[in-house]
Amino acid sequence: HPSKLPHIGTTIFTVMNHLAKKYDAINLSQGFPDFSPDRKLIDLVTKAMYSGYNQYAPMAGNMELREAIAKKYDVLYKSSYHPETEITVTAGATQAIFCAISAFVKPGDEVIIFRPAYDCYEPAIALNGGKAISITLDGPEYQVNWNSVKEAINDRTKMIVINTPQNPIGTIFSDKDLMQLQALTKDTNIIVLSDEVYEHIVFDGAIHQSVCLFPDLKARSFVAASFGKTFHNTGWKVGYCCAPKVLMDAFRKVHQFNVFCINHPTQKALADYLEEPSHYMELSGFYQKKRDLFLDLIKPSRFRFTPSKGTYFQLLDYSAITQEGDVDLAKRLVKEKQLASIPLSVFYNKDINNKVLRFCFAKTDDTLKRAADIINTI
Ligand code: PMP
Ligand code: GLN
Repeated sequence: HPSKLPHIGTTIFTVMNHLAKKYDAINLSQGFPDFSPDRKLIDLVTKAMYSGYNQYAPMAGNMELREAIAKKYDVLYKSSYHPETEITVTAGATQAIFCAISAFVKPGDEVIIFRPAYDCYEPAIALNGGKAISITLDGPEYQVNWNSVKEAINDRTKMIVINTPQNPIGTIFSDKDLMQLQALTKDTNIIVLSDEVYEHIVFDGAIHQSVCLFPDLKARSFVAASFGKTFHNTGWKVGYCCAPKVLMDAFRKVHQFNVFCINHPTQKALADYLEEPSHYMELSGFYQKKRDLFLDLIKPSRFRFTPSKGTYFQLLDYSAITQEGDVDLAKRLVKEKQLASIPLSVFYNKDINNKVLRFCFAKTDDTLKRAADIINTI
């Protein structure tokens, strides 16, 4: 039977994880920490289970958690989202992204995405009959040329997806980028989906620029976020979405029949844990130390790099080492050097000849040292 996604294979994250396991490799491929979440957070889940949070949560999410999220936006961005109508707790950011796209994208609609792009946007657009229009960003700086975005916008443009800090390239949008986006979408019906899952991981004193800081943008935007990145618990798959009520009403129509609600005890635990701002305010410093350690350790290597500005990913350019394609090299490094990474080319929609691999540095210092010892021999 013809499927709806004939051009989509198994994601690179699954492919590389399998190889990493098979060859007993150090796994810097898929983005997840190899250390545990705070013990206090784990204890809060057990406590929630013993306190009766074991049945369905409200459809839009546990109210205490929605209130804690609203408070975070008030404190951090001086931006208000109403917990009753404008915040929905989701099964990770992935489900938030899927619901936002499904609520609005119809056959024939165009959605602008910036490549290299995280891999869940395009299939969600395609499943709804939409067409992803790619704006390619060129390394090593990967800056957006807003004139090319202006040229890509037409009557069929339903949505623009942005991702700051951006996975896989480790770049961030400046306030000027967001002001350009705000100006380009003014007086249009375009919806913005802003994937901000790495909002708390920005380096070198930069400040995360959320769409919610720009009133005209906020009015047309969904913000997708994920606790997995922030609290070292990617396996819990808890995230959320914020948007003005008119957008959120449509979002919830999809969400209620997609999952209805998500895991309840973890929501209660996260609500309690979010009360303490240091639990997310200290994350940028924590990961900047890891980035700096990793880059310092691989100084003797033949890879070239621009330090990541956000996310927990670092791109390494191997063009001075070999002319192999990145997928071939990534697979060979797992087998021959027991080191797993992600080839950058899979995040494009065309053949691309950049010689770049992505490495995740959300790892213990010991793992980073062992990985660097290998990288320095390549
Ligand atoms: N967007 C980006 C840019 C990501 O890197 C990820 C996690 N890999 C997600 C969305 C999905 O987040 P979650 O695991 O919470 O579904
Ligand atoms: N966000 C993770 C990454 O970029 C992957 C999550 C997934 O496997 N879907 O590595």
